[in-house]
Amino acid sequence: MKATRRDFLTTAATAAGAAATGSFANADDQDHGHGQAHQHDHQVVPSDMALRVKSLESLLVEKGLVDRAALDALIDTYEHKVGPRNGARVVARAWFDSAYKQRLLTDADKAIAELGYGGMQGEHMVVVENTPAVHNMVVCTLCSCYPWPVLGLPPVWYKSAPYRSRSVIDPRGVLREFGTEISEDVEVRVWDSTAEVRYLVLPERPSGTEGLNEDALAALVTRDSMIGVAKILPRREGGAA
Ligand code: FE
Repeated sequence: MKATRRDFLTTAATAAGAAATGSFANADDQDHGHGQAHQHDHQVVPSDMALRVKSLESLLVEKGLVDRAALDALIDTYEHKVGPRNGARVVARAWFDSAYKQRLLTDADKAIAELGYGGMQGEHMVVVENTPAVHNMVVCTLCSCYPWPVLGLPPVWYKSAPYRSRSVIDPRGVLREFGTEISEDVEVRVWDSTAEVRYLVLPERPSGTEGLNEDALAALVTRDSMIGVAKILPRREGGAA
C-alpha cells in the first residue's frame, strides 16, 4: 500500500463529507479542480471503523490527550516492525542451530531477545515444538492474547468466538477446516494463551530443506504454522514449497 495511514484517514474523512452532501455522484468523471483527468482511486464509502478511528483520533488530538506523531509511530511499529516475519526468523534460527533451539525451548524470552525481539504482549513467551508425535496449536479462549513481538497483531479469526471455543472442544475438526489433517496417532495439544503467557509453535522443519540457509528457511515459515493451525509443506524436488 503506497498511501500512508494519515492519507487514508484524510481521504476517508473527505469522502464521508462528500457522501453526506451528495456530491459523490459521478465522482470519477469530475475534474477535482487540479486541472487533469481524475486518475487516483477513491474509497467511495469509508468504513464505519475508519470514520470512528478518525473521529476518535481528532477528538483526542484536539483535547491534547495524544500526539499525532506518537500515534503514527505506534501504528508504524505494528504495521511494519512487528509481524510474523520476526517469528519466522526465530523458527529458522532454531531449525538451523540446534543449540539455539535448546535455548528457545528452555527460555524462550531470552532466546527471542537474542534476535532483538521482545516487549509488549511478548514478555513471557513459551515455545512449543511440533514433532512427528505431537502437534501443538494455540488459542486464547478468553479473548485474543497473542505474541505481538513475534507474530504481530492477531488475525480476525483468532479473535472470533467460534475459533476460541471450538479449538478446545474439537481441535482436530478446527484444524481440518484450515486444511490441516492430523492423523489419529499424533497427539494434539491445545495451549491457552493468557495475559501472563503467550505461546509460539515451533513447526516441524519440512523435508527437502537440508541445503537451505537461514534466510531461505525463514521464507518458508508462515504465520499460521506458528499458531499451529497449519503445517509447513515439504518442498518438492527443484521447486518452491
Ligand atoms: Fe486473550
